[in-house]
Parts: sequence; C-alpha cells; structure tokens
Amino acid sequence: MTHDHMTLDQFLQDLDRDIRAEGDWGEVADYIPELGRIDPAQFGMAIALADGQVLTAGQAGQRFSIQSVSKVFALACVLGRIGEQLWRRVGREPSGDRFDSILLLEQEKGRPRNPFINAGALVVTDELLTGRSPRQALAEILAFVRAAAEDDDIHIDKAVARSEAGSGHRNTALVHYLRSFGNLKAPPDHVLGTYIHQCAIEMSCVQLARAGRVIAGLDCAPVLLSPVKQRRINAMMMTCGQYDGSGNFAFRVGMPAKSGVGGGLLVIAPGKASIAIWSPGLDGWGNSRMGTLAAERLAEFTGWSVFG
Ligand code: GLU
Repeated sequence: MTHDHMTLDQFLQDLDRDIRAEGDWGEVADYIPELGRIDPAQFGMAIALADGQVLTAGQAGQRFSIQSVSKVFALACVLGRIGEQLWRRVGREPSGDRFDSILLLEQEKGRPRNPFINAGALVVTDELLTGRSPRQALAEILAFVRAAAEDDDIHIDKAVARSEAGSGHRNTALVHYLRSFGNLKAPPDHVLGTYIHQCAIEMSCVQLARAGRVIAGLDCAPVLLSPVKQRRINAMMMTCGQYDGSGNFAFRVGMPAKSGVGGGLLVIAPGKASIAIWSPGLDGWGNSRMGTLAAERLAEFTGWSVFG
C-alpha cells in the first residue's frame, strides 16, 4: 500500500467506528417485505481506486439488494444500444417528487422526468426489452454488471424479487399508466417483471465499487462505456440520483451518486474512484441515512467533490 492508501484506509476504519457510534440508523424499506426484515444497524463501504486497489471498511463483503442502483446499469446498457434516441421517451430533469410518484406522469403526458425515478426506469427497461424476452434483457444487464465488476459471482435474489412482485402495486400502476400514453412497447407485465428482477440483483460493496469503475472512467476499468456516455450518466446521477433528495446530496457530498431502497449507494469520483456504501436504514427521501453521512465525510476528507 502507498502512503496515500494507508491514510485513506485509516480514515475508513475510523469512519466505520464513528458511524457505528452514531446510533440513528433510519428505517428500512418495509414496503418490500423481504427488505423490511433487515437489521438497519449495519454498515459497509468499499473504494475502488484508479490503480486497481480496493479499500474496505465494515461489512464490505456482505451482499445486499442493489434495488435502484441497478437503474444506472440498465441506463448504461440502453445508452450503449440506442444512444441519444432514449431521450425522446424520457426526460433529463430532476423530478422534485418521490421516486414512485405518479403525479408528474399525468401532467407531462407519460414522458417521465428522468431515467432514475421509477416511471423513467420502467421506460428504460422497456427499451431493453425491444426485440428481447425478459430473460434475455435480464441476462444483458447481469452480463454488463459482471463484466464491469470483472466478477461472475453476481446474481438475482429471487426471494426479494418475489417479495416485490407481491407488493408492487404502485409500479404496476405506473407501467399501465405509461402504456395508456403509448410510452410502453412491451407487455406491462414483462416490463414490471424484468424491472423487479433487475432491482433484486444482489452485490457486496466490493463488487459494486468494482462495477462502478466503468462509470468513474478509472484507468483500471474494462472499457464498456465511451467517455461521452460516462459523462451523461454521471450528470444524471448528480442531478437525479437521490430522487427528491438530490439537491441536498449534491450540497453535502458534491459527487454523482445513485441510491437504492436496499440502503446501497454508488458514489463516483470521476477519474479517481468508485465508492460503494451500504447501510440499510433510510432517511425520509428513501436514501441510506448513514450512507449519505459516510459519503459526506469521505468528500470532506478526500476533497473529491466535483465542485472543488
Ligand atoms: N424496486 C424498488 C421500487 O421500484 C426500487 C426503488 C429504489 O430503490 O429506490 O420500488
């Protein structure tokens, strides 16, 4: 380890201790019953650096449900496939509304505000289903994530998928709503089933940090995305990655990031590092409470905010 790595590693160990002493973990997402059973008082973190090293803290090897973090990888697949044409079907503006809101969809005639709110992510998944079965579309996302992480041991947690399938009434409403505006091509149940399974991909912080290297454009990363696509995805993560808490996250952390209701957080320091944090207790916006705090402390320590 270089001197810089040792300093960062020490910071991570201190951070792990401080986070565990905080005590206010937030609430787990219980609208997906399988996630509602998880103990919120857990924390793991991994930082993949440009030279290929991965530094870890806490439960960095523990697998968790990546949920909406999967939307980043689905977007990467679709941008790779159809590029800029996607924006005819989905916008690029923050929503200022909850992640599963139906409100704007009515006002904006079925064109979701961005690819990271649920309605937008469902359109992205629909696009992935063009000319493919749900099984093939899922295989494409999984192949992308495995290639990005250079790790084939990444799978879908079927119990979580089943659990969401039994309780996903809002997403069911959203796919039918999109269909009613003509912004859904595949059968609604195919889109929903594929989306729910993509959200149920399980990864550890180490795996997620390694997968995020392709978005951070790290020297050690496999080449899966052009620099333009990396920039586009990072811009979306900065402005829309934490739903209606995106402004607050940019204010506190200043790095592009995507959260999931499983408590995962992928944070990108472009050119420098890909960071995965997991702590399942959420704040009022549905973002990991301790994950956000850890990202904020990391940004303060490293100076990795893109705002300098
Ligand atoms: N599968 C979840 C849902 O659609 C993902 C939400 C999230 O992680 O923010 O409700």
